[in-house]
This record gives sequence, structure tokens and C-alpha cells, in this order.
Amino acid sequence: MTRCLASFAIALAIATHLLAQTAAAPVYVTLWFDTEDYILPQDDDAAKRLAEMLTRLGVRATFKVVGEKARVLEARRRTDVIAALKHHDIGYHSNTHSQQPTIAVYLQNAGWEDGRAEFYRREAQGARDVQRIFGVTPAAYGQPGSAWAPQTYPALHDMGIGMYLDEADHVGIDDQPFYYDGMLNVFKMRSNLARMELTGGASLDEGKARFTKSYKALRANGGGTISIYYHPNEWVHAEFWDAVNFSRGANPPRDEWKRPRTRPSAETEQAFQDFEQYVRFMKDQPGVRFVTATDLMRIYADAATTRSFRRDDLLSFARSAQQEISFQRFDGYAVSAADVFSLLTAAITTFGDRHVWPAELKLRPLYGPSHAFTSATGGTSSSSYRWSAFLEAVRDVDAFCRSAGRIPDQVWLGSESLSPADYLATLAAAAQDIIVTGKAPSDVARKSGRFTADRYVADDSPALWNWVIFPEGFHAPRIMELARLQAWTLKPALLSASSSRAAR
Ligand SMILES: [Zn+2]
Repeated sequence: MTRCLASFAIALAIATHLLAQTAAAPVYVTLWFDTEDYILPQDDDAAKRLAEMLTRLGVRATFKVVGEKARVLEARRRTDVIAALKHHDIGYHSNTHSQQPTIAVYLQNAGWEDGRAEFYRREAQGARDVQRIFGVTPAAYGQPGSAWAPQTYPALHDMGIGMYLDEADHVGIDDQPFYYDGMLNVFKMRSNLARMELTGGASLDEGKARFTKSYKALRANGGGTISIYYHPNEWVHAEFWDAVNFSRGANPPRDEWKRPRTRPSAETEQAFQDFEQYVRFMKDQPGVRFVTATDLMRIYADAATTRSFRRDDLLSFARSAQQEISFQRFDGYAVSAADVFSLLTAAITTFGDRHVWPAELKLRPLYGPSHAFTSATGGTSSSSYRWSAFLEAVRDVDAFCRSAGRIPDQVWLGSESLSPADYLATLAAAAQDIIVTGKAPSDVARKSGRFTADRYVADDSPALWNWVIFPEGFHAPRIMELARLQAWTLKPALLSASSSRAAR
């Protein structure tokens, strides 16, 4: 009897603990609207009605506005629509969205630097127009259709845009937010993408069930984020504004643009009513908080960028980088492969100058390499290097990183070159040696690095680029090759300590 009572008490304690954990787990819901239809005027009213409904419900969303849409709102003098949207976060959704060539098409053969410059050249004016018309710098960006490319990130950074908010399959970690190319991403959320259809009938119940499934899984797992997207035009149209004009690479002149067919008004009304019920339902769930792009950047702030890295941190990174080169998750922060590359290079450069290991280091974030590694022609490769020769190479890498802001494509040791992964594994072994013995080794043995972070990047295929606006059969192997190189920067985004406690 006593034993029975004791085990009951233990079971109760475990259940209470689990319940407390669940009760504390916040579920952040980010609701975003790609506000893009600059052809059908009824879209203006749909966007306004949604913005006003959400404001009335005490929910803030993110409206990602296309540059041309912002200009059209201004030309139609829809200051009422602009004012309604301004109660929410304003994002950016490209300059002209579906006019040809679309982003992935014009970047398909571009490299890292020229692609970054070309995206900026074509898209910065739209971001400036959104900023001028709405009076705020767009907080987030997301691509039209599946026209994603890694070169967009540094260009967005140059436009003052802070995060990537969209959905597609190119890169992602476990259906939760992550960092890539130095930017917070809510992207490839798959199982945590909840969307109620706007087709009436059972869609409200199905939408609630879909949301509940993600919500329960996240609550049981310490909390997380659910992403939900719509287009205001979905409430009023029977077909997409761009599909009727720009499908399969078509690019008719402006005076030949057709308006999409509209929905019967009863259907539109039903969709608004269902959507309001859907939002009310989500809002009523314990622990749910609706968050904008700006909120997400605070909730998922990258703690590695403000942290001081000490000897034990670097020793742990150095050990790990000799086994596998990918991101690493710690209590309260995560480091990418590029973060480790940057920290160990800086640490050894400092050690070379001062002959003592630095007491603490701040992170200088880097982008990944711009080209896949190609071995140098001629000669042989050494199995080890004199310390002085290796240190000279590390100093050169440090100088390159400071000026270019990215990982070099190769590292030179005299006339021999190392791939970034082999350099990092070799560097990590030397760093471990120095930290443990307190002095420089006489020789540094060459190691092979095993870079695995790119397994989170999709393979190129026409299915990855499944957007009706692309030319038939479009795919972009060079974009995905660059995407794998930028996987050096990939790491999970963690809930900040205060955010994981904040819940009702
Ligand atoms: Zn769009």
C-alpha cells in the first residue's frame, strides 16, 4: 500500500512537472499577408478590412507590401488603406513581384557579389517606395512565389531590412526559425505552417484542427512558432492576379494586363467571417501570442552576437570542428560553422601577436564562401606545415575576413591551398593544442574537414521552383550551389531566456 502510494506520488509529481512545463511554453503565432495585387482594385479594400479586423481583435500582423502595390495605393489616393495597414508591421515583398524576369530567373547565373548587387539594383527602389509611402523601413522581406536566392540576404541587409519571413523549401531547420546569412528566417516551417482555407464549408473546422495539431506539439516541446500566411486578394478573387497575366514566363505590356475574375460577394463575406472566427480561436488558446516580424527579431535575438566567448567555449568548438563542421546548439545560444571559423581564426591571430590565448572574444559574423573549392593545379600537398607558415596563413585569412566579411574560397599556404573546411579542421586541431599546452606547436598537421551543414539545403530540381510564373521547367543549380556554401552561416534560432518564460 505504501509503495503504491509512493509511486502514485511520483507519477503525480511528474505529471505536475510536465503540466507546468507545458503551461509555460509560449506558442508565437506570426500572421503575415503578402500584399501584392496591384491589378484588382478590390484588393485594396480587402487589405484594409483585414487590417482593421485584426486591429479590432487586438492582433498585430505583418503586411509584406510589393513596391508597385504601394505606388498604386498612393496613385489611387488610398490613404485610408495605408493608414489601416500602418497599425501593423510593414514588410517588403519585391518591387514588381511577377513581372519577368522574376528574382530567381535573373539571378540564376549570378555569383555571390554580382547577384547581391543585381538584386539591390532591381529591388531597392521598391523598398524605398514602401518606406516613403508607409513611413517606416520594412521590417521583413519574403520572395515572390518560390523565387528565393541566397544573394538577396546581404542586399536586404543593405536596405535596412532585418528578417526573412516567407515559406518555401530551399533551406530550413526542423520547421522552426533559424539564422541564415546573418538574418533571422521564419521559412520552411512546413508542419508549423497553419493555414485555414477560405473556401467556406468545413474549412474553419479543418483550419482549427490544423492549428491545434501544431500548437499541441509545440506546447509539449517547450514552445515555438507557428507561421500563417495569406494574400488579401484571396478574399476577393477567383484566380491569382499574376497567374492570369504572367504565367510560364509571359510578360504582356501593361496595357494588356487583364483583371482576375472576382468571387461572388457572399463567398467573400463567408471568408471574412470564418477568418475572424479562426483568429479568435487561436487567440483563445493558453500561451498563444500573436507576433510581428519586429517581435520575432526580439524573441529570437541571436545571443551569440553579444556574448563573450571564453577559453572553454573555444576549446569545445575546436574539438567539435575536428569531427564535423556544422552549427552547434548550447544553453541559450547557437553558433554556425562560420561563427566557429571566425572565432578560431581571430583567437589564433591574437595568440600569434601576443603569445597568450585571448581571455575572451566577441564574434565577428561572416558570410560563407562565394565559390565551391577547386584544388590548385600542380605541385603536391604537404601533410604538415611549420607553425610560422601556418600562422602567416591564419593572419591572411583574418585580414581577408575583416575586409570581405566572408569566408575565403580557399586558404593559401605558400603555393598550396586548403578548402575552407580543411583549413577549419586544421585550425581547430592547432587551437586545441595551444589551449591545452599553452604554447604554439612546432608543426601543424593538415586535417580533413567534414562540412555537413549543407544537408539542410534542398537539392536543385524543377519541383523546388514550383511557381506557375516561372518559365516551364525552370530550375537553378547555381543558386542552390551558392545556397549550400552559405550553409556555413546556418544555425537554429533559439527563444531568448525571457521569451521562453513569457506566457500566460
Ligand atoms: Zn507573393
